[in-house]
Amino acid sequence: MSDTSRILISCMDRRLSAFLDSEYNDGSTVFVRNAGANVLTVLNTVKQLSIEHPIKSIVIAPHTDCGAMGLVEAAINGRTKTSAQIDKYLVSQFKINKFADRKELESRINCDVQEASISPFARSIGASLDIKLIDLSTLDIPADTGRHILTLVKPSKTMYLDLIRRYSDNVGMFDSYFIQARGIRDVLPDIEIAATALHISDIRLISESKLNNAIMDSDVNVLKSQDYLAAAKVTAVSR
Ligand SMILES: [Zn+2]
Repeated sequence: MSDTSRILISCMDRRLSAFLDSEYNDGSTVFVRNAGANVLTVLNTVKQLSIEHPIKSIVIAPHTDCGAMGLVEAAINGRTKTSAQIDKYLVSQFKINKFADRKELESRINCDVQEASISPFARSIGASLDIKLIDLSTLDIPADTGRHILTLVKPSKTMYLDLIRRYSDNVGMFDSYFIQARGIRDVLPDIEIAATALHISDIRLISESKLNNAIMDSDVNVLKSQDYLAAAKVTAVSR
């Protein structure tokens, strides 16, 4: 396998995986995902990846019709109240930016916020930086089966189709959200968004190596200790 040269940061949204496989999986791209392609909770992940691999380029790929941006908009307009950690790690970044509507928030403001957040680091390692907004209305997305799960897996170059195939209970390509970060604690705000705003109660951890199995067991315990996951089913899929 060729070495990692590109990091792609995108949203956890279940509708993006097939597109990311076909558009960006060239064998040398490592995928990092969370709620809204929000750099803040994955910056340490990106920094660690850049120590392990030479990174020539970073791509940030937020998208239209994004649930995380819907949450930001509702929180800023006072229609919903978010927890302290969601406010701190997602919503607060958008409070200084005026936006007319959700469309502007998704298509312009989120791109600007994420670009500002990653660009000093990208410059410091000499990597190019591109912001590629994914327009969901141009993608071929099948009808929603209503069966939504959340997969937690380390950043990887693995095709989402191959990750989905690890499941033996007919999880479809468009059924799983994906959060991919260095460590579970970094992305607890993102996991809380999936559990509370998206009502996902089936959370699964996939390990891509035997070495990770022990880490995964402790991650399961961290998740089970979060109040907002009290009603969720958290399972580890060991190698
Ligand atoms: Zn999204």
